[in-house]
Amino acid sequence: MTLIDLRSDTVTLPTPAMREAMANAPVGDDVYGEDPTVNALQEEAAAMLGKEAGLFVTSGTQGNLTAVLAHCARGDEMILAKKSHIFQYEVASAAAYGGVQPNTLDLNPDGTMSLDEIRRAIRGNNAHYPVTRLIALENTQGGAWGAPLSADYIRQVSAIAKEHNLKLHIDGARLFNASAALGTPVNQLAEHADSVTFCLSKGLSAPVGSVLVGSKEFIARAHKIRKSFGGGMRQAGVIAAAGLIALREMSGWDRLREDHDNARILAEGIAALPYIEIDLSRVRTNMIFFSLTPDAPISIEALSAGMKAHGVLANPSSVLDRQMRMVTHYWFKRDSIPVVLDVMRAVLTGVPLTETVVK
Ligand SMILES: *Cc1c(COP(=O)(O)O)cnc(C)c1O
Repeated sequence: MTLIDLRSDTVTLPTPAMREAMANAPVGDDVYGEDPTVNALQEEAAAMLGKEAGLFVTSGTQGNLTAVLAHCARGDEMILAKKSHIFQYEVASAAAYGGVQPNTLDLNPDGTMSLDEIRRAIRGNNAHYPVTRLIALENTQGGAWGAPLSADYIRQVSAIAKEHNLKLHIDGARLFNASAALGTPVNQLAEHADSVTFCLSKGLSAPVGSVLVGSKEFIARAHKIRKSFGGGMRQAGVIAAAGLIALREMSGWDRLREDHDNARILAEGIAALPYIEIDLSRVRTNMIFFSLTPDAPISIEALSAGMKAHGVLANPSSVLDRQMRMVTHYWFKRDSIPVVLDVMRAVLTGVPLTETVVK
């Protein structure tokens, strides 16, 4: 049985072009700055995002942690969404290793934090208060169904940051998805941020890695912090080579819009199934969230297990009861959509799979 994997876009495997580039990559010792493939990746990523310099990191988590620690001192505070990846899913690393206190705000359904709430969260000059140092945005915002944040919104947040002498970091794990969805070049989404991370290993299909970009001076500080976390990777050109293919061949709007179109078509099919609650207007990029109605005959866990028995992988949401998330990606092809829908229908209703779909 071939699996259809909708758990995340992290499950993407390297493409044949990536495997070939990895095998043939010129390499050197990156801790000495001598790996030509890592250097090329860092330079190209920085140029694409309109920043002075880039740093290849092992993961999005390492990139975000490195950025937060390069911006903040112990006891400083950062403002971010309560439903952000940094706050929810990075093992409290900024607090644990950087002593940075999160000040979390709610999200609007469109993925934004209210500008007024951001203003109010910035600490005044008072002996009791920590120093607010950083605002962190997430684009696309996974806590809001993968909503893309517009360049205009980011500019407004950055204006607040500048007014109060704060830094702005963007966790752009899926920045290229935001760019494709909005029709806004990535450099315009990065323009007003002091630092941006993006993942090579999600929708762009590389096996490993993220890139952190910012000013030369910022990246020099980040370089030391990355080293302290064991992120000095020697002949890392072997994996950076796949990252270069990801940037050059997998980040285009047409490529990523296929994933977004597939998410929409799949979501529309799911909306037509029984016992499903879904708001189609919130399917904006490659993520789908839906819930089971209270009268559904099975739990979301049973739906997930039943689908898995038929080779379709999707996980119940970790935050909301009765909710499931699906993420489309390069290795999820359009002809899998009818299979997923038929499997879901069969598991939800107990009526066996239609013959055309059973293989
Ligand atoms: C995946 C992701 C990250 C980083 O995840 P890693 O698994 O550490 O690469 C960071 N932010 C967001 C929004 C993500 O989706």
